[in-house]
Amino acid sequence: MSLLPIIETPDPRLRQVSKPVEAFDSALQTLIDDMFETMYAAPGIGLAAIQVGVPQRLLVIDLQEQEDAEGKPIREPRVFVNPEILSESEDTKLYNEGCLSLPDAYAEVERPATVRARWQERDGAVREEELDGLLAVCLQHEMDHLEGVLFIDHLSRLKREMILKKLLKARAKAA
Ligand code: ZN
Repeated sequence: MSLLPIIETPDPRLRQVSKPVEAFDSALQTLIDDMFETMYAAPGIGLAAIQVGVPQRLLVIDLQEQEDAEGKPIREPRVFVNPEILSESEDTKLYNEGCLSLPDAYAEVERPATVRARWQERDGAVREEELDGLLAVCLQHEMDHLEGVLFIDHLSRLKREMILKKLLKARAKAA
């Protein structure tokens, strides 16, 4: 396995619409393993393939909400290939979101609280499930990436510009 570089705003690749995954071959398995390693190292709880520069409809999630006796997060990796939202609840939820492609930026985003989703597992098997809580938030955030949408696009223009300005400033300082 290897760590992949995570691309950050304003990299134009983040605005690309990703293409369906067609081959569930060994290259896909390697990409999935590398994406998990990259996400855990970041650290993060979700990563879409386009965030490592691969425009394919694939994302990985591990909320790592539970801890073991030693306080280490328990891993529960989930893979979503070609995910679709079949229906969403009318009630919404506010969650303070962040993104590995927008380091150190956080903002509250409102999304449907529950979604019914269909996707393929890493072996191609089709799965359908109703998701809620943080998993629903995370899936919707990562699925936005497949359409070239970032969480800041859900904010007011003023808030979005403030975040982008702060990001560019931090980058200029780091350079
Ligand atoms: Zn993100």
